[in-house]
Amino acid sequence: MVKFVSLSSGSNGNCYYIGNEHTALLIDAGIGPRTIKKRLLEHGISMETVEFVLVTHDHIDHIKSLGSLAERLHLPVYASEKLHGALERHFCTRGKLSGCIRKTILDRPCEYKGVRFIPFEVPHDATETVGYYIDFYGTKFTFLTDAGAVTESVIKYCKMSGHLIFEANYDLNMLLRGSYPPDLKIRIMEGHGHLSNEQTASALKIIYHRDLSHIFLCHLSENNNTPAVAYDTIAKGLSDIGVKVGTDVALTCLPRRQSSQLFTF
Ligand SMILES: [Zn+2]
Ligand SMILES: [Zn+2]
Repeated sequence: MVKFVSLSSGSNGNCYYIGNEHTALLIDAGIGPRTIKKRLLEHGISMETVEFVLVTHDHIDHIKSLGSLAERLHLPVYASEKLHGALERHFCTRGKLSGCIRKTILDRPCEYKGVRFIPFEVPHDATETVGYYIDFYGTKFTFLTDAGAVTESVIKYCKMSGHLIFEANYDLNMLLRGSYPPDLKIRIMEGHGHLSNEQTASALKIIYHRDLSHIFLCHLSENNNTPAVAYDTIAKGLSDIGVKVGTDVALTCLPRRQSSQLFTF
């Protein structure tokens, strides 16, 4: 049985847990170590079971506590060579990852503790941003956050997975009518920022396959989205191709400031 929990999702901090009786990993560490420990414990999971971390990119909402976690627990930290270079310079991680650095190569499988994972590049305005395809003892996840566009790689790896963690950052109308300054709106929309509900709905129409059982929407904006709007847009997109949410596939919006429920597969 594989367990999945989102401990926090959005610009206030990102951290996700996948584990089973053999091992467990975190994807990103953008909330404090004590919060990670506390939220895991709420689900009966000990922090000590976490054996390694996969990093998507060097924005602070993804790496805030990566340095202190690595220092305290000596966890292997997987990231590309370029990203590790950036982490060496970042004030959150500078000098704190020694002994923990594990370098990945884009589109090359890596294996640790029986978990097979492949990082793939996504367009985003960080040093280098990756999504992950993760084969966790036979349960397959594709993890995509902070992506400015849906690429062929994204489609390829999502089609290989039964469980998607997929960004639905903003509703286009809410962003356009909202109070963000024009240059920030452009940064979000121009292809190296974030995915809108509409982009995600279009992508999922292409990605959907019979073995897809769960879509988790992540990194929802607090100002330019709501869980109901994101859910409805994606559910409507899927219904356009005859896919019924709740019957053919489960759809969940991951909460921003708290843990999700514990999902088991
Ligand atoms: Zn982010
Ligand atoms: Zn980012």
